[in-house]
Amino acid sequence: MSEPQPLREALAAHGLLARKALGQHFLLDLNITRKIARLAGPLDGKRVIEVGPGPGGLTRALLEAGAKVVAIEKDPRFLPLLQDLSATFEDRLEIVLADALAADESSLCSGAPASIVANLPYNVGTPLLIKWLTGSFRPTSMTLMFQKEVAQRISAPPGADAYGRLAVIAQACADARIVMEIPARAFTPPPRVDSAVVRLDPLAEPPSARRLEALQAITAAAFGQRRKMLRTSLRSLGGEKLCSDAGVAPDARAETIDVAGFLRLTDTWLTGS
Ligand code: SAM
Repeated sequence: MSEPQPLREALAAHGLLARKALGQHFLLDLNITRKIARLAGPLDGKRVIEVGPGPGGLTRALLEAGAKVVAIEKDPRFLPLLQDLSATFEDRLEIVLADALAADESSLCSGAPASIVANLPYNVGTPLLIKWLTGSFRPTSMTLMFQKEVAQRISAPPGADAYGRLAVIAQACADARIVMEIPARAFTPPPRVDSAVVRLDPLAEPPSARRLEALQAITAAAFGQRRKMLRTSLRSLGGEKLCSDAGVAPDARAETIDVAGFLRLTDTWLTGS
């Protein structure tokens, strides 16, 4: 197997400059990308979906760890670099030129189980996470880089400043924790904010689509007026009676209610409290 070209040289050789509109901040240090790949667990022979491979630093680390990678990239300028990588790793890399928001992951993996590992573009990170948490394709695990503030909003416990809708939805579906922090200077070009990697392991019995839809409605109302008491913020959904029937204090504020409490509110609402 021939050694692929160093990433910085490969970018220069192809005259590739980062595009801000596509959230392009590259990790060119293979020590960092290898660490992210290790955080995704044993990958030998495993199928991994990577969104936004760009020049391929993380892709290379995943392939070195033995993964079979399906890489979804929107920017066609990276195809030559990725094709070189595919040749080096003897067809364990499939490159899909597409918008990941519209991609059908199940058919890309022919229905086989797959995990997702990605340094996500900031502008579509949260919608992609919601798609993977609540959609029909359920990854076996997700190891995802977000801007640090979003990583905190995903993994925050009740009572924390960052605790809100995203934490409740994410933690209702998966065990979510920050596993690595990465300073802005590690990226080329550096973004304005630091980043963090979140590992999400789906729960054995995640809520059904119907429960998730209702949970989204409850959390939207509760956190839409997060300084108000639940009896007020949830007034249109049943207010005081809904809270009492669900065993949740009507004078509590949304930020103090744990995920189990939100699921009780959801189930009580669905059964027509
Ligand atoms: N994985 C590379 C790395 O770590 O160096 C690049 C990460 S960069 C933060 C995000 C990548 O996602 C870019 O390559 C960008 O072109 C790509 N991208 C942006 N929006 C996308 C979308 N909607 N679907 C697929 N890829 C997208």
